[in-house]
Amino acid sequence: FLSMVSHELRTPLTSIRMLVDSLAGDPNPDPERTRQYLGVITRENHRLSRLVDDFLTFSRLERGRMSYDFHTVAPEEITESAVDSVRNRFSTPGCDFRVETSQDLPPIEADVPSLSTALINLLENAFKYSGNEKRILLTTTRLHDEVCFAVVDNGCGFEANHKGRIFEKFYRIQRPGQGSAGVGLGLHIVRSIVEAHRGHIEVESTPGHGSRFAIHIPIATPNPRDP
Ligand code: ADP
Repeated sequence: FLSMVSHELRTPLTSIRMLVDSLAGDPNPDPERTRQYLGVITRENHRLSRLVDDFLTFSRLERGRMSYDFHTVAPEEITESAVDSVRNRFSTPGCDFRVETSQDLPPIEADVPSLSTALINLLENAFKYSGNEKRILLTTTRLHDEVCFAVVDNGCGFEANHKGRIFEKFYRIQRPGQGSAGVGLGLHIVRSIVEAHRGHIEVESTPGHGSRFAIHIPIATPNPRDP
């Protein structure tokens, strides 16, 4: 695990260092090239932060040290927190990101930062596994006695035989030309967080057309002492 962690951290660190060295060593940097390099540095920096977050969360989960602070919250709080976190990155040409939230959603029992992290992981994957013309939709709806947060993308999708395994730790689907885009912890973390909320996660995917990941969380049972 440690050697995999250091390898995964070293890759973005090396490319950031090389690009910074090249810009710093050029007495007359070309503005267009500088802009391109800065774009790559921003992307790699983001990837590094997510890797570190995933490793820390994973290590807490493995040691049974993940602590949740549950409150009765409006589902919109989770949606808004996740959207705030990805909005900048998703506001790029070639990414059509939409958010649809039903009116009058019932409250749920949730640890807002953790459940938002789960949703962010799904949104990040939708972005990562979609091509140049991305269409990503986040819906928050009520389904019977559950609230459903669903992320739909028009990305590469995957074959049905992976469906049972993609939530296992370190499980990745190798695709030609994909390079090293992750370590296979994202969905494992999502499932652990969702199960801690007494919820469940569903996935449907069609290769070449896209995927839909849906987090279902039970609605909060009213406290009999409340008016
Ligand atoms: P990682 O992205 O680091 O590989 P994840 O646990 O987040 O790890 O995902 C596991 C695998 O599931 C990925 O390797 C990827 O192939 C597949 N996957 C996850 N989300 C999507 C998606 N939205 N579209 C297509 N494939 C996906």
